[in-house]
Amino acid sequence: MAKIFVTRKIPEVGPELLQATGHEVVVSEKDNVLTKEELVAALGAAPYEAVLCLLTDKIDDEVLAAAPRVKIFANYAVGYDNIDLDAAKARGVLITNTPAVSTSQSVAEHALALLVAVGRRIVEADQFVRDGHYRGWDPMLFITPDLVGRTLGIIGAGRIGSRLAFHAARGFEMKVIYHDIRRNDELERTLDVKFETSVEAVLQAADYVSLHVNLDQSTRHLINRERLALLKPNAVLVNTSRGPVIDEAALVDALREKRLAGAGLDVFEFEPKLVPGLAALPNVVLTPHIASATEETRNDMAKMAAENILAVLAGQTPSNLVK
Ligand code: NAD
Repeated sequence: MAKIFVTRKIPEVGPELLQATGHEVVVSEKDNVLTKEELVAALGAAPYEAVLCLLTDKIDDEVLAAAPRVKIFANYAVGYDNIDLDAAKARGVLITNTPAVSTSQSVAEHALALLVAVGRRIVEADQFVRDGHYRGWDPMLFITPDLVGRTLGIIGAGRIGSRLAFHAARGFEMKVIYHDIRRNDELERTLDVKFETSVEAVLQAADYVSLHVNLDQSTRHLINRERLALLKPNAVLVNTSRGPVIDEAALVDALREKRLAGAGLDVFEFEPKLVPGLAALPNVVLTPHIASATEETRNDMAKMAAENILAVLAGQTPSNLVK
């Protein structure tokens, strides 16, 4: 039976599934992200054959070299920009992710929550009441646009973007437009969603923009200073994809200069650090990378990552092999 290393505590269902098959599971006892040195040392401490890792673990060639018997790094995340895929391929190590249906639902819900929170100024209004400023109903207090009938622009209409399109079109009766490098025929067929040929076209037309691309070289700073300048002054920008998709310093400048109405961010360019000035802005809502943090999704992710490991240890192809 194999020895498996889990880089941080995750829902029990994952380790239990691995143990039930007779494998030995070692879960890192550190209640924090392992540093590179700690990860290398932990992997070298036993002849592990599989690793269940997180998006906060940078899996590069040095880490791969520290675990020569490991056949699979099962990433507990949909994104896998934390892993050097070329280095893994060169060493014959398999990489899997956890694109559970529940993940798409949870992240789409969270994107929608940020969109409403910023669009209707919920957090600012909450603070206003807590600070004792509420003196009675005021016909001019916190006036914002309705979402109904407004245009939502989705950039990256894969699993999560499509789910958000569904919620926005069906639940809020918003007009939905999208841009993606791949056209999503099913989305266009099942919902009244319009394809735009460029990111620029979406930014110019939308009242709300939500980002759902994966992070790679083509999407790093996809939303840069020039593109931010295309947004409408009443626009709200939401990011639940990966922080580096937005040039965050440029976003702070744009928000300060009121070139857009606000932003809702679950991910940050230099996570967990924020760029200077971001936290001081009233027109932003910030959450600590929790878009997938629902009981259902986190359990499904743990189960899925464990199943990917079990498949590889049994000599089978895992369901969620990355490229
Ligand atoms: P997906 O692969 O189904 O969708 C990504 C879409 O982006 C694809 O349709 C792809 O064609 C498109 N795309 C890629 N490059 C593009 C470009 N340059 N321009 C336009 N479109 C481009 O992935 P998904 O399941 O929808 O997840 C999207 C991302 O969300 C993940 O990669 C991950 O980084 C992030 N995510 C975040 C959380 C969170 O907790 N905040 C949770 C899950 C996933």
